[in-house]
Amino acid sequence: MDFRLSEEQRLWRKAVHDFVSKEIKPLAQEINEKEEIPRPVIQKMGPMGLLGMCVPETYGGSELDAISSAIAIEELAWGDGGTALTIEAHNELGCASVALFGTEDQKQTLLPPVISGEGKLTSLALTEPQAGSDLRNIRTKAHKQGNQWIIQGSKSWITNAGEADFIVTLVKTNPDEGSSGMSMIIVPTDTPGLSIAPPEKKMGAGGTHSHEVRYDAAKVPAEYLLGKEGEGLQQTLKILDGGRVSVGALSVGIAQAALEEGLSYAKERETFGKTLSKHQAIQWLVADAATDIHAARLMVYYAAWLKDQGKSYTKAGAAAKLFATEMAERAAYSAIQIHGSYGYSREYPVEAMYKAARLMTIGEGTSEIQRLVIARKLFEEGPLRIE
Ligand SMILES: Cc1cc2nc3c(=O)[nH]c(=O)nc-3n(C[C@H](O)[C@H](O)[C@H](O)COP(=O)(O)OP(=O)(O)OC[C@H]3O[C@@H](n4cnc5c(N)ncnc54)[C@H](O)[C@@H]3O)c2cc1C
Repeated sequence: MDFRLSEEQRLWRKAVHDFVSKEIKPLAQEINEKEEIPRPVIQKMGPMGLLGMCVPETYGGSELDAISSAIAIEELAWGDGGTALTIEAHNELGCASVALFGTEDQKQTLLPPVISGEGKLTSLALTEPQAGSDLRNIRTKAHKQGNQWIIQGSKSWITNAGEADFIVTLVKTNPDEGSSGMSMIIVPTDTPGLSIAPPEKKMGAGGTHSHEVRYDAAKVPAEYLLGKEGEGLQQTLKILDGGRVSVGALSVGIAQAALEEGLSYAKERETFGKTLSKHQAIQWLVADAATDIHAARLMVYYAAWLKDQGKSYTKAGAAAKLFATEMAERAAYSAIQIHGSYGYSREYPVEAMYKAARLMTIGEGTSEIQRLVIARKLFEEGPLRIE
């Protein structure tokens, strides 16, 4: 067993960390206050390789291993949770769908423009107003007319839709066939009949925007089907497996940032004649947070390692997401507690971290859904073990 990162992974972590320290962390408060996606910074991420992490080099991507991608998302989230989610959804949901299931032609045409930083981003649209966890209950439909798909329906909470070049959309192409009647269609955002609402008013994570998307007889060419007709749900589950590891990494990054804020505040603030760092109750808060973060990071890297080995990582990924996202909320809660009233102020960064962390137990599969996945796999395969 070797727990060391490779030299390449260590250098990558440092490069992303330095980039985030300079370009994102100093802007985090402004991003959250104004609820603005930092577009000029995202532009700089293209040449860094942060916008095509799962895209093969043939199409201009950086083709990273899963551990390196997790490291990058963790570091981005250390700078700002919302911005990290924008980049995570672009890489792990939008780009990954095309990279995994696209034809040669789709990959060549669609991927290079969205990974350079000069162009737009990508989205994956699964959720609908009446169906999030229960995706078999979606109502958006597509039918073939000549050499076109005609799409009718609506999607909600679609991250990056307002910034996207295309939205990979889960639809029913054969509503009578249940889960085998679902397909994925790539919908360019300039498609006639497609409309994207203004960003949702969220609790936090100002660096990411989610939108309602309507398809009113939206027409796309027949060749924009992704993979084969009827495979949409299986494709979705595969994409979400990867997304879970990534949201776990994102949560580790937020928690790490919150812990660092708590530590530095505790070293400065004095009560009852000594700094907070000398009070045992505060020491326990930081010790618990550090232990939690360490455990979550190991779980995330282990799930990513399984992915890199080509092994099944559904159970390990769901467990990593469940633990890391709930842990991040605990870590951010403790950081606020250590700051006292200042922790509740928007002038201090821990407030925004707490609000970003809160989202992570919901997006890309709630904690309850992770527990369902883990339990199902436990009965099918037995307990989680180190391979
Ligand atoms: C900021 C943000 C960004 C998002 N980005 C995207 C995106 O890019 N693309 C996209 O498609 N979606 C996106 N979503 C939607 C997100 O994936 C869904 O909100 C999530 O999957 C939960 O679905 P729901 O909101 O419909 O809740 P529901 O499915 O209605 O669930 C409500 C509650 O019931 C629980 N529950 C449901 N079923 C069960 C069960 N069988 N057993 C136990 N408990 C259960 C859930 O865990 C939850 O607590 C985003 C959401 C947010 C908030």
